[in-house]
Parts: sequence; C-alpha cells; structure tokens
Amino acid sequence: ENTLLEVQDLKVHFGGKKLFRKAQIVHAVDGVSFTVPKGKAFGILGESGAGKTTTALAVLRLVPLTDGTVRIDDAEFSALRKNELREARHKVQIIFQDPYSSLNPHRRIGDIVREPLDLMDIGLETDRDQMVLDLFVQVGLQPELTLLFPHQISGGQKQQVCLARALATKPALIVCDEPVSAIDISVRAQILNLMRKLQEDLGLTYLFFSRDPGVVQYLCDHVAVMYLGQVVEQADRIALFSNPQHPYTKALLAAVPKVRPQVGNEKKVPLAGDPPSPINLPMGCRFADRCPVAFEKCYRVVPELKDRGNGHMASCHLLDKGLVTAKLGNGLE
Ligand code: SF4
Repeated sequence: ENTLLEVQDLKVHFGGKKLFRKAQIVHAVDGVSFTVPKGKAFGILGESGAGKTTTALAVLRLVPLTDGTVRIDDAEFSALRKNELREARHKVQIIFQDPYSSLNPHRRIGDIVREPLDLMDIGLETDRDQMVLDLFVQVGLQPELTLLFPHQISGGQKQQVCLARALATKPALIVCDEPVSAIDISVRAQILNLMRKLQEDLGLTYLFFSRDPGVVQYLCDHVAVMYLGQVVEQADRIALFSNPQHPYTKALLAAVPKVRPQVGNEKKVPLAGDPPSPINLPMGCRFADRCPVAFEKCYRVVPELKDRGNGHMASCHLLDKGLVTAKLGNGLE
C-alpha cells in the first residue's frame, strides 16, 4: 500500500499563562504517529479534549507544530515555508464539524464553491462556472441551488456544499473534523454514503476525526484511538472493533448502545468522569484516574505503545502481562 500521509511524533504544546511564576504548558498533542495509505479512510476516535481538532489543524499546518513531521505524498509538509505552503495547500482540504459557521452567510453557495478556484487560479476563468456546476452534481446538489444563500438550504445540504468546496482543488487528502456530528441524525447516513462514494469515485484519502465509534466503524479502514493528546490504540477497523485491547477503547465502545442484549458474564466498563487536564498531566498512564483496572505501576510508569500482534498497537501495562481480557472481558457485550 502506498502511503499518502505520514505523521511522525507530532507534538503541539501551547504556552499558557504564567501562574505562580511557572509557565503553564498545554500538551494538546503529545507524540502522535500514524500513516494513512492512499485511497483509504483513517479514523481518529476519542472524546472531546483528546486533542483531535488540534491534530487535524496541525496536519494542515493551521497551528504551529512544537515538534514532529508531517509528510504528504512524500513531501515534507511540515518543513514548507509560508509561500511554498500556499502552493501545497490545494492537496489537502478540511471539512469542519459545523457547516453552519463555515459558510459565509452573505455569499451565494455557488460563489462559495467557486472561491477556491479563483483563489488558486484553477482552470480558465471562463470555465469556472461550469466547474462549479460539475462539483454540485458530484456531491448530489441540484445545479439550480447555486444562487441560494446558506440560510436557505438544510444542514445536510450545507455539508454537501462544504464537500463541493473542498473538492474544487482536487485534493488528495481530506481532513474531516466531526463532519456529521452537527447535522440532523436523519441525514447523517446520507452524507457518510456520499463521502464513501466520493472516495471510491475519486480515489480520495480521508483523515477522519470523530467521537462517535459508529461513524468511524462505518467509514474508516484503520482506526487510532486518542486519549489526552496521545494514541493509546491503533489497528485496522475489524481488529479494533471486534477485539479492542486498551481499557479506554473497551470503555468507549461499551458506552455505545448495543442492539443485542448483554450475554455472558463479561463486565461492562463504565467510562466515568472527565479526562485530566492537559496542563497537569499524571505521571504514569494518562488514563489511570479513570481506568477500572489500574494498579500501582500505572500511577508511576508510562505504558509503551507496542505491537500486540498483526500490527495491532496498544499501550497498557496489563497487556504486557496479557491480563486485560482476564480482568475486563472484551467489554463489548
Ligand atoms: Fe489502565 Fe494501567 Fe492499562 Fe493505563 S496502564 S490503561 S491505568 S491498566
């Protein structure tokens, strides 16, 4: 498989206010690595506060990187200077969670989709109206809607407009930050199906951030689970959802309502409380305060992200002893 995106040891730390003479550092993203093969959808799953949005913005160089590298199509995106970055930007587009605020309310939606064509000088000027119409058709919007303003269309249609605008530059990678969580549940499936169809038709690669395991399971081929700025588990979709290894992943998946009733005597894992602050990080495992199976070592020693077989990565001391399943069940039923 050819790699399209490679993120290596990405760190984004924000310098906070000085308190008690000590500068407070927010470890928003703290050593994240993953690779995304061309034409695949890579999901990053985690609660809010896990560092998903900061990771998304860092991949696009929309926030300064503290450390690490981002390579897109073998070019070191993280090393580009400002003027080079403008040129390279057409390769990567982002779709935000909230289609309501990401569209300018004073512009007609046809002009919104045309904007990147004009800004990046794509195609002949005389061809651009037709290019906009083609983009509308591609995302399933009626061409006659081009003259409407964002408030005159539905939430689902707004996200279709965002997709059309993103596709205008013929990107290789689309970064999606919770793209369906703000739209009505009844049209979510329609947007996800559209994204899947576009991926097949255009060979797109997605980096897809979500807190919703169901959405990630539906769309993504590979999944990384993030907790407090770090990846705690990573595997292909089938392995991650059928055989989660990390207690946090188990808890996250167990929280999703299941159609099947509980079977067997495996324990369901409650995911109580909030993640600790990314300013005062715990010494050992970052999940220890909320982990139902934490033991003494967890509070002292940081667990390593290791391959647990067939490239299924997870970081937990109990896995080193092969004990998570014994203590916790598979957490899925
Ligand atoms: Fe829980 Fe310890 Fe594993 Fe962290 S290392 S997930 S606290 S058992």
